[in-house]
Amino acid sequence: MTLTDTSPAAVDVRGVHKAYGAHRVLDGIDLALRPGQVTVILGPSGSGKSTLLRVINHLEKPDAGHVSLNGELIGVRRHGTRLKELSERAILAQRRRIGFVFQAFHLFPHLTVLENVAAAPVATGQLAAKEAQKLALGLLDRVGLADKAGAYPRQLSGGQQQRVAIARTLALKPGIILFDEPTSALDPELVGEVLSVIRDLATGGTTLVVVTHEIGFAREVADHVVFLDRGRIVE
Ligand code: ADP
Ligand code: MG
Repeated sequence: MTLTDTSPAAVDVRGVHKAYGAHRVLDGIDLALRPGQVTVILGPSGSGKSTLLRVINHLEKPDAGHVSLNGELIGVRRHGTRLKELSERAILAQRRRIGFVFQAFHLFPHLTVLENVAAAPVATGQLAAKEAQKLALGLLDRVGLADKAGAYPRQLSGGQQQRVAIARTLALKPGIILFDEPTSALDPELVGEVLSVIRDLATGGTTLVVVTHEIGFAREVADHVVFLDRGRIVE
């Protein structure tokens, strides 16, 4: 894919600072995520990677700087002065366009695999139950788990559970998906199957941000690799 520097960023992070007490966790982050691009974030533990994803997804507010999503401001704060605040409703609408896949998959244990994937579009009123089931079956097929639709999460391996979690995220049709160390909780032999699903998404035009320690995967799939160290981007 060829994209010029002037194409609008799907997510634009500008001058973001975030501290917890005296601890500066993000120390002036500038990052543009272009539509359809795969950005991989590498960096040591504690460098602020998860916090950055949480700022992008509105789970944390920056102390200074701003983030915009498709040109719409997520939050604007400059030097501690709040300039604009979005309504809860606007925040929810934006968050719905961003999928988040965590290290721990958080599937509902009492629901089948199919129900886990179909639940969110029904709960958010996007689809009727029947349509959601159809969509969920298609997505399970896409992550190679169509034959597990009736199984419960405890009957699956960690890699399979993470693939269900990815299908569940896709069910909301997000334009951007943030992955926070999606393979870190997995046994080494299960890492490949999850990376292969992410690789497949990368060729499908979704904007992806992947925090990972898998350097080989980063080299192979990323359009853009970012190293974070003590809250700063070091290229
Ligand atoms: P990474 O994902 O790169 O390992 P994090 O973004 O999770 O790093 O955390 C960066 C630093 O911020 C760590 O030192 C962590 O302890 C601290 N931190 C993260 N979240 C909070 C919080 N809610 N309250 C206080 N400190 C936090
Ligand atoms: Mg983290």
